[in-house]
Amino acid sequence: MLRIQEHVNLQPFNTFAIPVTARYFCEVTSEAELISLCSQLTDYPRYMVLGGGSNVLFCNHYDGLIIHNRIQGISFEAKNQKVHGQFGGGENWHECVLRSVEQGLYGIENLSLIPGTVGAAPVQNIGAYGVEIKDVFVSLRAVNLIAGNVEIFNAERCQFDYRDSVFKQAEAGKFCITEVTLSLDKAGSPKAGYGELSAELAQCGISAEDATPKQMSNAVCTIRKRKLPDPSELPNAGSFFKNPIVSADKHQQLKQSFPDMVSYALPNGEYKLACGWLIDAMGWKGKLQNGAQIHQQQALVLINRGGGAEAICNFANDIKAAVYERYGVTIESEPGWIS
Ligand SMILES: Cc1cc2nc3c(=O)[nH]c(=O)nc-3n(C[C@H](O)[C@H](O)[C@H](O)COP(=O)(O)OP(=O)(O)OC[C@H]3O[C@@H](n4cnc5c(N)ncnc54)[C@H](O)[C@@H]3O)c2cc1C
Repeated sequence: MLRIQEHVNLQPFNTFAIPVTARYFCEVTSEAELISLCSQLTDYPRYMVLGGGSNVLFCNHYDGLIIHNRIQGISFEAKNQKVHGQFGGGENWHECVLRSVEQGLYGIENLSLIPGTVGAAPVQNIGAYGVEIKDVFVSLRAVNLIAGNVEIFNAERCQFDYRDSVFKQAEAGKFCITEVTLSLDKAGSPKAGYGELSAELAQCGISAEDATPKQMSNAVCTIRKRKLPDPSELPNAGSFFKNPIVSADKHQQLKQSFPDMVSYALPNGEYKLACGWLIDAMGWKGKLQNGAQIHQQQALVLINRGGGAEAICNFANDIKAAVYERYGVTIESEPGWIS
């Protein structure tokens, strides 16, 4: 049964813990509820879907309707040589990873401990330790909030890219993802190409070639707990900036000035720069400015130290300007700014 609440404090619903309110707020627990809500949406000045709030920055009070996705459900089905995992859009992503690795399934173990919901995972094509959700993606179900019907998206229709998909571009704000199907594999193999990951496995006496999904997941969790601040202790939204991509010429020019700069060659000849290195090399790691701080260990992570949205927005703009001034490179923020 749909219940529309008014003036709801969003602080517990975003990992930056920004204390803004939503004028209207409702939880949806099924596709049917969501479809019935669609016919009422024109009554609201605006609306948006919210999952775990771990990739948004609320800059102001929200004057419309927040649709909080709570659609549950986890199931596994044998499909030829693979297993298809079906996960409700409101499920906690990490819980789904744990359920998969408990079954001995390879595929999403490297994406352990990423906060947020299943439904938001394809929106920015979540990725970590050499794996992105697109690598195992089969399809998703989404409710078209304007038409009020269910649509199916395959990988091609999702237009996945680095931290990007059609849900951040042409179809932004139009759909609520209600279920995601992933192709998992009992006979798969571990992807331990990242040096940090193979080192962690070695430390535990586990061979990188033979690691089970559970062992991989444990290793990823150990590294992440060591490196990333827990939002419940230090409010943050993970990496605040995307790694910028530059041309080969620009890369060469930067390498001459900054020989230690960390970068990765891309198959198309361009280079991805480690944005954390760019910020760190300016000596900004740990910098505190008006209640917002760059994390002491992770230059990509911004922490709300009590300054709220204004402090974070101002600091983020200052970081962008300083990076541009120093390197001539434009950086973009990963979380969506909701104003
Ligand atoms: C400590 C920390 C570490 C992180 N590490 C990583 C990482 O390693 N890799 C990575 O990729 N990300 C990482 N993130 C970012 C974040 O966890 C992911 O982007 C996650 O998928 C966001 O999920 P959410 O449910 O919190 O989304 P929200 O913040 O609630 O929403 C994000 C966007 O998706 C939209 N959205 C949400 N749910 C739906 C839906 N069902 N249908 C349609 N649109 C929807 C929202 O409208 C919003 O635009 C990290 C964040 C934190 C706080």
